[in-house]
Amino acid sequence: MDTSAVGQHAEAEPPEVSGHPDEPAAHEEGLSGRLNWLRAGVLGANDGIVSVAGVVMGVAGATTDRTAILIAGVAALVAGALSMAAGEYVSVSTQRDAEKSLLAKEREELRTMPAEEFAELQEILQHRGLSPDLAHEVAAQLTETNALRAHAVLELGLDPDELTSPWAAAIASMVAFIFGASLPALTILLPDPERFAVTVGAVIVALAITGWASARLGYAPPGRAVIRNITGGSFAMLITYLVGSVLGAQVL
Ligand SMILES: [Zn+2]
Repeated sequence: MDTSAVGQHAEAEPPEVSGHPDEPAAHEEGLSGRLNWLRAGVLGANDGIVSVAGVVMGVAGATTDRTAILIAGVAALVAGALSMAAGEYVSVSTQRDAEKSLLAKEREELRTMPAEEFAELQEILQHRGLSPDLAHEVAAQLTETNALRAHAVLELGLDPDELTSPWAAAIASMVAFIFGASLPALTILLPDPERFAVTVGAVIVALAITGWASARLGYAPPGRAVIRNITGGSFAMLITYLVGSVLGAQVL
């Protein structure tokens, strides 16, 4: 086909592609959308726990000054939460742009070469196990009802009404990061003998929870994910504590 007909950037796109959340038709929140911000949230919480635990353990290894430890913890929390939100926003926006341009290309192909697109849809359905006759009938009905949606879901694996939201992912990861980060930032302020043990214990329990949650979201067996997550986080705490201790002994 003439590829010049397919716009590189779909500037003028019909508004029906991204459904408005206040539309009554969008009452059922799509699984993909929910999974997306849940995934962002679990990732954010995990990052908050590990990075701020590392920072406060490192500083606590260097000094017993509670004010210094508190400032380090708060600074790490704020910087990490903002960086997390910005990172999620950028990455999900990029993904969304890619999805939109795929949909625009599909829409253009449906307009310019409907016969080829129909044959393609029928073939996809046959590959999924339908007989040629049934595939033809299903393709005909799907094309009549909403051709773009059928092609988006079956061919691209995208739901045009449920494109990922960059803001939902950014806010979920930021809020989750703050919650995760608060745990080590608070436990490290406990009285001196217990604070390391309590912080390490609390972080291990929290990492077990986020490891379990991320495994469940990915339909993976949770056991290994929990162990991996705890091991990684413990290494981060141990290494920053050792670095802090060495630096503290050298400088002070
Ligand atoms: Zn197609």
